[in-house]
Amino acid sequence: MSLDHYIPRCRGGLDEASNLFPAHKICNSIKSNLMPDEFERQKQKLYQTALDNWHLKHKEKQIVEKALQKMK
Ligand SMILES: [Zn+2]
Repeated sequence: MSLDHYIPRCRGGLDEASNLFPAHKICNSIKSNLMPDEFERQKQKLYQTALDNWHLKHKEKQIVEKALQKMK
């Protein structure tokens, strides 16, 4: 697990508890620098792209597949 920012730091998000949530490292990478609403809109596509095109470790692949199942 890692700590992800709801509002990315590069877009003015702060390093404080209200802006942080625990996330898998791979989910953190997938969310990248998107704002929460942008991420919500594109979530399924982003996870699918990661699954299809990224070089994922076995465990990361399981996390991404599980997340995708929840979105359907
Ligand atoms: Zn996750």
